[in-house]
This record gives sequence, structure tokens and C-alpha cells, in this order.
Amino acid sequence: MEPWQKILQNSITTLDGLQEHVACDSNALLDVIANFPMRINPYFLKLIHHPGDPIWKQAIPDLAEIHDGVCEDDPLDEENLSPVPNLVHKYPDRVLFLVSNTCAMYCRFCTRKRKVGTDKMKISPKTLNAGYSYLRQHPEIREVLISGGDPLLLPDGDIATILHNLRSIRSIEIIRIGTRVPSVLPMRITKKLVSILKAHHPLYINTHFNHPNEITAESSKACTMLADGGIPVGCQTVLLKGVNDDVQTLKKLFLGLLRIRVKPYYLFQADLTKGTNHFRTTTETGIAIMRQLYGHISGMAIPTYALDGPKGKGKIPLTPQYILEQGDTLVFENFKGQVCTYPEAGESC
Ligand SMILES: *Cc1c(COP(=O)(O)O)cnc(C)c1O
Ligand code: SF4
Repeated sequence: MEPWQKILQNSITTLDGLQEHVACDSNALLDVIANFPMRINPYFLKLIHHPGDPIWKQAIPDLAEIHDGVCEDDPLDEENLSPVPNLVHKYPDRVLFLVSNTCAMYCRFCTRKRKVGTDKMKISPKTLNAGYSYLRQHPEIREVLISGGDPLLLPDGDIATILHNLRSIRSIEIIRIGTRVPSVLPMRITKKLVSILKAHHPLYINTHFNHPNEITAESSKACTMLADGGIPVGCQTVLLKGVNDDVQTLKKLFLGLLRIRVKPYYLFQADLTKGTNHFRTTTETGIAIMRQLYGHISGMAIPTYALDGPKGKGKIPLTPQYILEQGDTLVFENFKGQVCTYPEAGESC
């Protein structure tokens, strides 16, 4: 067994286990865990400094999860957009291919909370093969986004096989992997794994950090190893109430990510996923935060703030409004709030 597998094996998955480490009313949480699985590995547990802190909120079950009367099981309509199980085809040229049903930590706000980590998410050689044949029959698909669950929790050999099978489909140009391993179980990024990944370029990774406390010596090393393997690493952060919904926290996170060679890619507005309503902020909060980032810090550190449209309508950028008037002259505000003008190109120019 590899060191990362041993760490994972020592994860807290039961209420008794949880009470040994943190003070909580475990009986009240029985129902929560029965509905939505818990897994807190020893590495991520150590990042909790005190009860209720931003790492705690992401990992420790909360009663609010089972009192969510607002949200839905599958708000993005992923099941209906899957022509074969575990493959979501929503955009013309790219698909989401779910190849793993487990994660190194079960985020309490997970969008796929309805199935990740439970036996409702069935992945087998049969579903994988159905995915490959769909991709072969649809040459208009030029990018495959491998996700789950977390694809990098699979054994090295399985990852190599999946990448090899995808690379053998000529129409697939780009492989993208969505993984939270760099922030929640960074020791999973081994030399061997990097050598497997880099044999399948062009391959991109989008990881997932939500708070500056997740940037540690270990996670920095994992991201550096990926970058040194020639793999561009992006980050998809989720805007979460009580975790990162303020300018100072996100500024520190995005600048910290750049320093470890991770490019902030998306900041997601929280989805309407059942069991996660207590994490939602208003879009007004998100847009106000973005307004205080543009121009104030490196453009390299600024992700696109996006809402994934309910019912599978796709991701929509939410941006602060800088344009005041649009005519022969464009009137706009700059990042300092100063009004500026720009004459549009006219017939006579
Ligand atoms: C988010 C998503 C993608 C990728 O979208 P990008 O904007 O290219 O990052 C692809 N397919 C599905 C179903 C998605 O939800
Ligand atoms: S790592 Fe991603 S898929 Fe897994 S529980 Fe967290 S948000 Fe969900």
C-alpha cells in the first residue's frame, strides 16, 4: 500500500471516530451522515485550527444539511444530460466524464452530493466502455473533462488505462482532470503519477482550493510537481458563506495560488444542491467581491466568477458592470470608480 493510501485508510468516517477528534453533538449528526457520507483524512483534519473555522465548515457535517427545504438533488440536470451513465454532454465540443465515485474528503457543499461517495454512483468497466464508445461516435467532442468523485484517487494503473483509452480516440485533443487531491491529500501527487499524467499531453488539471489555509508546504509541493511535469494547473474555487465570502480571504487565496503556480480559473456561485443551502451567498456579494479584485491585484490572479445555470443551462460569467452608457462614445467607470470615455470607431474614422 502506498503512503497516501494508508493516510486515506485512517480517515474519520463514523461519528464515534469524529468525537474522538472534535467536540460535536454526534447523535444529532447521525441522520446527516446517513444521507451524505463523511470522510475526513488525517492530513485535512490537521488544517482545522478551531471549531467552526473555514476548514471545519468544509469537512464537518452540519445539521443544516438535512433541513434544506430549498435546493434540489440534481440542480444542473446532469442525469438528464447524460446520454450514457456518468457522461454529461452539455456543451457542443466538450463533455464531463465521471470515472471515480470517491474523494479524499467529502466536501459538505459538494455539487454532486446526491451520489458522490455512495452506492448511487456506479462506475464500472461497463460504464467506462460505454463512455469511450460514445466519444468515438461523437467526433465533434474535442475535450474530455475527467471528474467524479476524484479521478486521482484511482490506482495509478487505472488512471493510465483511462488516459490511454482517451488518447486512442483521434478526435480528442484536450484532456482535463478535475481533482481536489492537491489541496486535500497532496501526498497523492507522486513522481510516478506525474510521469503517467505527462505521458498524455496536452493534459490540464483544474484543482480546487477554497481557503488560504489550504496552501501548505505539502499542497505547494504537489502543485509544483504538477507544474514541473508541464501540466498547467488551474483552480476552481466555490464561493462559500462563512468560508471565503470576503475580499481579504479571496485575495489571499488567489495570490497564494499564483505563487504555487496555480492559475485561478473559476470562482463558482454555489449551486442549488440539496443539503448545501446554508453555504449560499447572494450573487450581489460575489459581484461586489469581484469589483474589489479587478485592477487591484494582478489580472493573473483573478478567476471568472460564474454561475452554473440551473437545469443544465451552462456556465454564465457574472461580472461587475463598468459600462455606464453605450453610444457614439462609450462611458465607463474604471476600477477606482472614475468616470472615463472612449470614442467609438465611426464611419468617418
Ligand atoms: C463545467 C462543465 C464543463 C466545462 O466548462 P468550461 O467552461 O469549459 O470549464 C463541461 N461540461 C460540463 C457538463 C460542465 O458542467
Ligand atoms: S472533492 Fe469535489 S467531488 Fe469530491 S466531495 Fe469535494 S466537491 Fe465533491
